[in-house]
Amino acid sequence: MSRSAHPAGPRYADVLPEGHYSAPPTDLNALDAKVWAQTVCRNADGIVTVGGVDVRTLAERFGTPAYFIDEADFRARARAWRTAFGPDADVFYAGKAFLSRAVVRWLHEEGLNLDVCSGGELTTALLAGMPADRIAFHGNNKSTEEITRAIESGVGRIVLDSFQEIVRVAHIASSLGTRQRVQIRVTVGVEAHTHEFIATAHEDQKFGIPLADGQAAEAVRRVLRLDGLELIGIHSHIGSQIFDTSGFEVAAHRVVGLLKDIRDEHGVELPEIDLGGGLGIAYTGDDDPREPHEIAKALTEIVSRECEAARLRTPRISVEPGRAIVGPTAFTLYEVGTIKPLERLRTYVSVDGGMSDNIRTALYDAEYSVALASRTSDAEPMLVRIVGKHCESGDIVVRDAFLPSDLAPGDLLAVPATGAYCRSMASNYNHALRPPVVAVSDGEARVIVRRETEEDLLRLDVG
Ligand SMILES: *Cc1c(COP(=O)(O)O)cnc(C)c1O
Repeated sequence: MSRSAHPAGPRYADVLPEGHYSAPPTDLNALDAKVWAQTVCRNADGIVTVGGVDVRTLAERFGTPAYFIDEADFRARARAWRTAFGPDADVFYAGKAFLSRAVVRWLHEEGLNLDVCSGGELTTALLAGMPADRIAFHGNNKSTEEITRAIESGVGRIVLDSFQEIVRVAHIASSLGTRQRVQIRVTVGVEAHTHEFIATAHEDQKFGIPLADGQAAEAVRRVLRLDGLELIGIHSHIGSQIFDTSGFEVAAHRVVGLLKDIRDEHGVELPEIDLGGGLGIAYTGDDDPREPHEIAKALTEIVSRECEAARLRTPRISVEPGRAIVGPTAFTLYEVGTIKPLERLRTYVSVDGGMSDNIRTALYDAEYSVALASRTSDAEPMLVRIVGKHCESGDIVVRDAFLPSDLAPGDLLAVPATGAYCRSMASNYNHALRPPVVAVSDGEARVIVRRETEEDLLRLDVG
C-alpha cells in the first residue's frame, strides 16, 4: 500500500487510495466485545457504562482524559491464566505493562506472581504486599543498588541478562552471605511480532545471552561455578503481541536443547523453564487472540514433547503475560475539543489527551479503535483520525476510524484496550498532567492512581 512505499517512511504517506479502507461498520453504536472490557455496555440511554457506572458520570467525577479499568475483568483474566496453567506452573504478571499498588493486591489475591524490572517497580510491589519470593527481577542493566535491594528483600529470582551481571549478582549475593536463585535469559533466535515470527541463528538486540556460538552454554558454566548463585532455570522471551504458538515451539525446542546439553555436560537437570510473555490481544475487531487455556495447553504440550524427546524430566513452566491480562481491561476516555474536516481526506478530531497518554500509535504504528461513548447516533459514518493536543503532527491516538458525522465538541470518546503500556509509558510532554487510573467495579468507582497536578510538576522544578 502507498503508506509503506513512501520514501520518507510510512508516517509521511498516509493519503490512501480511494476505497482502501474497509467499509464502515454497519452499526457505529455497537461495541465489539472483542476489544472492550467484560462489563462494558451501553445503558438504556445509549451511554457507555463500565462496572455499572456510565461514562458521563465518570467524566464529571474524574475529568478527562482518564483511564478506566474494569476490576472484575482484570481479576477474571488473571484468574483465567492462573487456572489455565494450574498448580504445576507459575504465572508472572509483567509489571511494566501497568503497575500500581491496587493491581499488585489484585494479583496477590488471585495467586499470580510478579515481574519487575526496576527499583521503582520493586518498591511498588513490596509496598503493596507482594511476597518477595513471588517476585522476579528482570532487566538488561540492573544497577548495583537495584541488585542489592532485590537480594536483600529476598526476591524469588533474578533473571541474569549478561556476562557482567553474572559476576555482579554473584558478588553481591556472596557479600550479603546468601545464595541467589537465578535464571539465565537466553536469546534463541526467534523474533515474534503479531502474526509472523522469524527463526534465525543470531539475534541483533540488547536482551539476553545468545544461544548461538555456545555463549549461553558458557554462561551456564560460569553461573554453576559461583557460590553466590543457584541456577534454577533458563528464560526466553521472544516478542510481543503474538497470536500463535509456533514461535514458542521453536523457542522451546532450542531451550530444551540447551537443558539437554547442560545435563550432558554437568549432570544437572534444571528444574524450571520460563517462556516469557508477549501474547497478543485484540486492539481492533481484526485481531484474534487465543484464550489462556488454549495457550497453556499448547505450551505445556510443546515443552513435554521436547523434553520427552530429549529424555529430560519436564521442568516447571512459567509464563509472563502483561498485555494479555491488563490490556483489554481498560479504556481511555477523552472529550472532543475541535473537529476539522479536510476536503477529500478525512476529519481530524482533537481530544484533550494524546501521545502523552498513549505513545503506542506514534511509537509502534499501533492500531486502536474508538467509539462515541456519551450517546448513540444514527448519523452517517465519517472517516476520522483521532489526534491529541500536543505540538507534534505525529500525535495520533487512532489513525483511522469511523465515527458518526454529527460528532460535536463536548462528546466523549472511548478508546478501548489501553490497559497495557499506555499509563505506564505516559509522559509529561508539553507539561501534560498524566491522567488518573480509576478502577470501576459493582457500581463503584475509585481512583487507584490520581491525576497529576501542576503542583506535582513544579515539585521537580527547583527554580
Ligand atoms: C515485556 C516482557 C513481558 C511481557 O510482555 P507482554 O507483551 O506484555 O505480555 C514478559 N517478559 C519479559 C521478559 C518482558 O520483557
